[in-house]
Amino acid sequence: MTIDPNQFRDIDPGKRVLMGPGPSDVSARVLQALAAPCIGHLDPYFLEAMNQTQQLLRYLFQTENALTIPVSGTGSAGMETCFVNLVEPGDEVVVCVNGVFGTRMADIVGRLGGRLTRVDAPWGRAIDPQDVRQAIDGRNPKVLAVVHAETSTGVCQPLEDLAAVAKEAGALLLVDTVTSLGGMEVAVDRLGIDAVYSGTQKCLSCPPGLSPVSLSPAALEKLERRKTPVVSWYLDMGMVAQYWGSQRKYHHTAPINMVYALREALRMIAEEGLEARFARHQLNHRALVAGVEAMGLAMLVPEPERLPMLNAVCIPDGADDAKVRDALLRGFGIEIGGGLGDLAGKVWRVGIMGEASCRRNVVLFLATLETILKTQGVAVKPGATEAAANVYDDA
Ligand SMILES: *Cc1c(COP(=O)(O)O)cnc(C)c1O
Repeated sequence: MTIDPNQFRDIDPGKRVLMGPGPSDVSARVLQALAAPCIGHLDPYFLEAMNQTQQLLRYLFQTENALTIPVSGTGSAGMETCFVNLVEPGDEVVVCVNGVFGTRMADIVGRLGGRLTRVDAPWGRAIDPQDVRQAIDGRNPKVLAVVHAETSTGVCQPLEDLAAVAKEAGALLLVDTVTSLGGMEVAVDRLGIDAVYSGTQKCLSCPPGLSPVSLSPAALEKLERRKTPVVSWYLDMGMVAQYWGSQRKYHHTAPINMVYALREALRMIAEEGLEARFARHQLNHRALVAGVEAMGLAMLVPEPERLPMLNAVCIPDGADDAKVRDALLRGFGIEIGGGLGDLAGKVWRVGIMGEASCRRNVVLFLATLETILKTQGVAVKPGATEAAANVYDDA
């Protein structure tokens, strides 16, 4: 077989404004770190970079957990890591489901032979801790799993009450923080979270490819007491921990340059400071909502349950979902997300995550959406950018 290499051009996608459900905009600093020389994964320089990445991750997760590492793989690999290590066949597992990612957790529990109890809430609403308490009544669940930031709906799940329910039941608390980490507080130790995973391409503003994971001492104890081996060789934290720990025992080759990139993204987060970063996400969220509502559009999620970094906006009557998103992307390089599952065609998912969470993007999006809707014959009220400006001025 022959191939003409000249038919392939240089990779040059051009610039975008990434305001969808992820990936989010990546800073020049992170891209530069990605391009640093690839060295051996047991090179002393890289070993130090691994240590520092772990240190920075502990800061972001607000945890003392020794086993706090970036798993090689995207957010879903982190999800599987937590479940394959903590669930054995026959274990009772309670999963809260109010969107795509809770559904994915339930799928994984089934594949592992766990005995699944689902606690459902409508898509667009948070899980009621009382429902979880009732579902657990009389059972002995080993794990209670919940998504902190449901990216498919824009719902924020308060964790305090669920943490109390898990404690009462003697269950490990497993939390998906793929979208929340880096955009709002994820206080692992204070809340008593036992297993937590995230992803690099949402509020960390790093390309996709790594999944920060942290396991508490109680989770490690459950792992050590397993009667059956972890079914995934690659994601077996017993072995992976010996690679990231002081033994440096070869397990697999860490994606060297992705670790550089994550380290840089985390360094930028530490420079900004957690409180300032979370406040920035809140402010841009409030401005976006003010603008969207001024246009006469509605938010899917009731105010107290909204996420700051993922905004589900109801598609107004008469607007063509695909045509609007296409006009945003082709005309302006702005990417937003469509709805998933039952919400397909009903909402737009507007992400303001990490680097992308800034006043410039919020105003650009509002002004552009207004123009596109008008051009496509959808009636919108004027004053979106002014409403957003008022929020910034009052801040
Ligand atoms: C994006 C996302 C995932 C999956 O992450 P991938 O990187 O796409 O594998 C899991 N959970 C939530 C809440 C997410 O937003």
